[in-house]
Amino acid sequence: MEQALMKVNRNRLQETIETSAQIGAIPGNGLCRLALSDEDKEIRDLFRSWLKDSGLQVRVDDFGNIYGRREGKKKDAPPILVGSHLDTQPMGGRFDGILGVLGALEVVRTLNDLEIETELPIEIVSFTNEEGARFEPPMLGSGGITGIFDKEFIYSQKDKSGKSFVDELKRIGYLGDESNRIRKVHSYLEFHVEQGPVLEQANSAIGVVEAIQGMTWLEVKLTGEGDHAGPTPMNMRKDALVAAAKMIVAIQHAAREIDEMTTTTVGRMALAPNVVNCIPGEVSFSVDVRHPEDIKRRLAVELVREKISTIAAAEGVEIEIRDLWEIETTPFAPQILKHITEGAKAYGYSSRRIVSGAGHDAKYLSDIAPTAMIFVPSVNGKSHSPEELTSWEDIEQGANVLLYVVEALANER
Ligand SMILES: [Zn+2]
Repeated sequence: MEQALMKVNRNRLQETIETSAQIGAIPGNGLCRLALSDEDKEIRDLFRSWLKDSGLQVRVDDFGNIYGRREGKKKDAPPILVGSHLDTQPMGGRFDGILGVLGALEVVRTLNDLEIETELPIEIVSFTNEEGARFEPPMLGSGGITGIFDKEFIYSQKDKSGKSFVDELKRIGYLGDESNRIRKVHSYLEFHVEQGPVLEQANSAIGVVEAIQGMTWLEVKLTGEGDHAGPTPMNMRKDALVAAAKMIVAIQHAAREIDEMTTTTVGRMALAPNVVNCIPGEVSFSVDVRHPEDIKRRLAVELVREKISTIAAAEGVEIEIRDLWEIETTPFAPQILKHITEGAKAYGYSSRRIVSGAGHDAKYLSDIAPTAMIFVPSVNGKSHSPEELTSWEDIEQGANVLLYVVEALANER
């Protein structure tokens, strides 16, 4: 098949990513490009000009999501939507999200170079505030158009300095029209860096992402007795922090007892009174539990609850376990995964199935359209850090597979 040999322009893609990396640059090759900041406005303006230069019709919706449309032969058909986000963490990298948006742009530029007309339209999208680093929660732009969050909720979110989402959207000139939202989508594709070490360790070039794994967050509150550190004998204490320490170890063990796919993390802790010569009377901490299979994740959560309750009883502290958040695993569309696997094979790249441990805009898009993601390796698995790195060769290979899949879908193969 001749079309399988189409290739993106690696130098052009590299230059485009490097140009993007100058906007909001921080020491160590990182980026600080928070949603709706001046830096975000600058990359948006540049991105818009790139879309226009590629002959695309540009729209901005009421959440500031930017679209660039390449018409197909079937003008009324729902488009193949391809994209990600251009915002970053405060100490972020050059590739997270950016690769998906600029990779999509490179796909369109290549189709233009080759004068390939597709049956279905293709739209590039850059979603607003994917990271959630400035306005919580994450993925507000994709969550807005898919009905996860309503407009009032999104508009009223405030950053740490009290500035609201809608005011900042207006300030940077990206408050577009509701009629510009994408409504019907044929398929959604997101090209992204893995942000973990699996592909690198497996020596695989292409990650065929079959799902975004679910997670459960718990908040545990322990109440012991906050006595004086001197006069209270060891055998008469109800030390909430000692109980918490034993629980953290037990939570780590719980993951191992389920299987090697389970992750359990205690990432946040507060103690009172937090003073040198007082026995900690109160401790609260978070638990994050993840697994690609919802059933196994629930088993792990049950095991965690059981273990920490037993420890609380043995240590004589009161325990209160609260559900903070729960999200189910999102499986991706098998027919698109098939195209990704075929694409990798056509170019002779190694590929493997992988589950995403992190959330992405693709999670919400899968509510309205068949969706899948393509991952490329992250050096040392690093992301959300200036050290985030993916080789240009891996980027080129991922972009070629993206091109292959977009062309196949847009020509209804
Ligand atoms: Zn991302």
